[in-house]
Amino acid sequence: MRLLLILLFSWLSCGVVQAGPIEGDWLLRLDEKNPRVELNAYFEYLADPGSLTDVYGVHALPAEAFTRHSSDVPNFGFTERRYWFRTQLLQVSGDESWFLQFDYSPLDNIDVYLLDQHGEMLVAEHGGDRRPFDQRLIKSRQFTVELPLSLDEPVWLYVAVQTEGSLQVPAILFSAPHYVAKSRSEYYMLGLYYGVLLSMLLYTLLTYLSVRDASHLYYIAYIAAYLLFQLTLNGLAFEYLWPQFPDWNNRMLPLSITVATLTLILLTRSFLQTRTLVPRIDKLLLLVQWLYVALALACLVMPYDWAIRLSTASVVLTPLVVFAVAVWIFLAGYRQSRFFLLAFTVLLLGMVLYALKTFHVLPGTYLTEYALQIGSALQMILLVFALADRLRLLKQENLRIEQEARSLLEQRVLERTEALNSALQELAVKNRQLSELSTLDGLTGVYNRAYQEEILVTEWARACRQKGPLSVLMVDIDHFKRINDNHGHQAGDAVLRTVAALIKSFAKRKADVVCRYGGEEFMVILPDTTVEGALAVAEGIRQALAELDIALPGGAIRITASIGLASVIPDSAARDKLVALVGAADEALYQAKEAGRNQVRQGYLPGTA
Ligand code: GH3
Ligand code: MG
Ligand code: MG
Repeated sequence: MRLLLILLFSWLSCGVVQAGPIEGDWLLRLDEKNPRVELNAYFEYLADPGSLTDVYGVHALPAEAFTRHSSDVPNFGFTERRYWFRTQLLQVSGDESWFLQFDYSPLDNIDVYLLDQHGEMLVAEHGGDRRPFDQRLIKSRQFTVELPLSLDEPVWLYVAVQTEGSLQVPAILFSAPHYVAKSRSEYYMLGLYYGVLLSMLLYTLLTYLSVRDASHLYYIAYIAAYLLFQLTLNGLAFEYLWPQFPDWNNRMLPLSITVATLTLILLTRSFLQTRTLVPRIDKLLLLVQWLYVALALACLVMPYDWAIRLSTASVVLTPLVVFAVAVWIFLAGYRQSRFFLLAFTVLLLGMVLYALKTFHVLPGTYLTEYALQIGSALQMILLVFALADRLRLLKQENLRIEQEARSLLEQRVLERTEALNSALQELAVKNRQLSELSTLDGLTGVYNRAYQEEILVTEWARACRQKGPLSVLMVDIDHFKRINDNHGHQAGDAVLRTVAALIKSFAKRKADVVCRYGGEEFMVILPDTTVEGALAVAEGIRQALAELDIALPGGAIRITASIGLASVIPDSAARDKLVALVGAADEALYQAKEAGRNQVRQGYLPGTA
């Protein structure tokens, strides 16, 4: 990651060699007071025409064959040619070794030679990631060579570099004590960095197992790919994961970059719900996603220099795109994107800081040196937070929807219950009407025979309890058959209705009940009524009927009725007494008919007369 921007820069300025006058000494004086020296300002270089076979041939060339340039880091863009670099070193204090380190691990082949003033070879070492890691004398993620220098004895340092990727040679000399201290703190720093990334990965993995949210899965994939990319880029993967497989190591860099950007797109689409929130942008992201899938596959077979160019472009452009989408969605008012946006702001800030340091706008402090690591670590931490925050917001939203649904349901239930209640009330009214109908006589509207039997039993029981009198009248119209015969059945019905109404008008008390006993015969039940009272009612009915003009289509007619009466104060609830009461009234009616009709007769229960 450290040299990512240089990588990009070299891609943009592909093929441009920056040359010019240099300051500094032809002879580099090494002093322990100055334990770290960037060699680039002192190098002169030569592009190998292909004919140079070994260092001796290069050493034999005239000085004019070499060019000096002013770039801090020799950078020749993407070229497959071999370049030779050289400088003269002179140790002016101390007599310890110095360490030459190449701080860009993707370089394919690096050869380092140290010649003394007589052209004798002192050191010849070969590194780069095309050669198995085990061949390195110093086991370090960056190719490092120990240079055994002696006090006041100048030597020639030759470096030959050939690579399929971006050819840049950040070569640095360290004094022995400085090298040890630097290596240690650097590995601590990297350990810390990978520790953070790894713990975020594990944490999210466990969270995913519990919440099963797709965004968590994409984040896990993203951080895993990103980890692999970082490990490959700074040489740790080659050192620890696959030291035996230099070819694989070379493929892994563009591949891990592409997979990381691919998973980042997946994460963004899932996290920001672009498909529903911004469908058009989502289509674009989908296109990019499939492009990256194709690129990832192509990385397995494509020539390295193309793979690294395309993947480098993707790794710089993708965070910018993601950032833009997150800003868009945030401005559109979707709160769940806020920490996601913050995460990518921090990452981009790290990238910008590092770029400013790389191009010497900012000084190389601890913060700017590790700006990318700090930025990406913070990004990963913020993303975990963003995932949690998003889950919380989604849960809130679900709860709100649930509550709405519930209150809607409650309202519906209430409405339905009310409707049901009113239907039930209507039904009750209808039921009452229906049961009344079943107790009434259809023709006359007074109670029918069935109800009469029921009510008689009830009143009998009440009279028993209260030891009060109960009277019964049997009213029978005289010669009714004739009315039917003379005036027709319709007229007979009309007469029956008139008679019923008249009898009813005499049964004034609330407890009094008039029923049609059968044919043209009516029964009047008079609870709590003495013989005298019953006789008065009966006589009233008889007289009123005899005087009534009944209007019929053929002219008014008059009728009479005979009435039998019986009354008793019940002394036992026994059923046969009740039957006897009705029998007595019937018998009295028979006597009234016998005696010439149109009269009232009282009957007596056996044993009372
Ligand atoms: P009596 O003076 O002896 O009572 O003579 P009656 O003709 O009234 O007596 P009877 O019992 O012989 O005749 C009753 C008649 O009442 C017979 C039947 O045609 C008539 N009747 C019974 N129910 C109805 C009815 O619902 N409508 C009509 N129009 N006539 C009825
Ligand atoms: Mg009759
Ligand atoms: Mg009759």
